[in-house]
Amino acid sequence: MDARLDVLRSVAEIHLAGVMHNDVNDDNILFTSTPNGKPRIVDFEYAEKHKCRRELEIVEGAPAPPRALFGCPELWDLAIRLRIWRSRCVSFYGEYIDEDSIDSPQVLIDSARSLTYIPPEDIERIAKKAFKMVQIFRDNGGYRPGDFDPEDWVF
Ligand SMILES: [Zn+2]
Repeated sequence: MDARLDVLRSVAEIHLAGVMHNDVNDDNILFTSTPNGKPRIVDFEYAEKHKCRRELEIVEGAPAPPRALFGCPELWDLAIRLRIWRSRCVSFYGEYIDEDSIDSPQVLIDSARSLTYIPPEDIERIAKKAFKMVQIFRDNGGYRPGDFDPEDWVF
């Protein structure tokens, strides 16, 4: 089980019960003493009533949605801190490129070449692979286990 997702689910349940915790941090998450092994969120000193307006499902590995569209600031912040979502930037030869700007392998090639000399035969092959991965992620709305070996993301 992924402890990060369990923490997120626990806080989401608290929200559904009408409460915003306002202080979710490592000191307030207990992993012991629960019969089902789920994390227990404690210390509601700063909690307040909350009508959760979350609009979107939290899809592990998908790009982070815009905070305003997501609808619930506490769950959005927590998902960011827990690294549930994938960055919207693709790291390619040390350069970070916004996923939305990648509309062809050439964008990746140009960006990497602006930094350093890379042999054309290497960079074209790898850029095509990276571009295909970005396309598949977009089509799926995120990462699905089995789409790729995680090692594939190291360029
Ligand atoms: Zn909420």
